[in-house]
Amino acid sequence: MVKLVEVKEERKKTPRKDGKKRWEMLTCTCDSDPLCNRCDFEAAENSIPTNEFKVKDLLDDGKVGPERTVTKITVLRGSMDDVIGWVF
Ligand SMILES: [Zn+2]
Repeated sequence: MVKLVEVKEERKKTPRKDGKKRWEMLTCTCDSDPLCNRCDFEAAENSIPTNEFKVKDLLDDGKVGPERTVTKITVLRGSMDDVIGWVF
């Protein structure tokens, strides 16, 4: 059975009261600017894994370590509540 990954958030700014992300307030301008900021932010949002996943770490000696299951991630958000990345 697929389990959901536990997500922690690390934010530059406190969340908006309405729960919306600041980038969601932007208007799509893809008509004049293919892949505008808003769509870029949206794609990053959608890249956050929702289910647990398996990884193999690269060890210091350059070898690949044993497979492990990632059950928790931390999403790092910028000043637009945009996803800068996620770590585990
Ligand atoms: Zn757009």
